[in-house]
Amino acid sequence: MITKEMMIKNILKNKCPNCSKGKIFNETNIYLNFRRPKMNNRCSNCGFNYQKEPGFFFGAMYVSYGLAVAQGILTYLIASQFFSERFDLRIIWIIALVLILLSSFNMRISRILWIYLFKEYRN
Ligand SMILES: [Zn+2]
Repeated sequence: MITKEMMIKNILKNKCPNCSKGKIFNETNIYLNFRRPKMNNRCSNCGFNYQKEPGFFFGAMYVSYGLAVAQGILTYLIASQFFSERFDLRIIWIIALVLILLSSFNMRISRILWIYLFKEYRN
């Protein structure tokens, strides 16, 4: 039985939703890695199929979008504390920079979250 804490840990550690041992992305660093992502098709440990069907990760874009919006709002809320005006246009550049820096992480974590969302689904 996998607890919620273990599941969150596995998601952040890029581990297979089925056995918690195999890796989803081949790279060790999924956080600030701007190299081309190398995703495994199946778990190296239990053979769990990550890509359920062709175009399965299309839906992960919605997760990625949601994450980017949340990160953008959060960045705005933090950055606006350092400016006297409420809508200083310089904040847009800060948000853009933060989102560019987080883009590689968002791309990977959105796919991992998508795999975890549909881990019970078998085709
Ligand atoms: Zn596995």
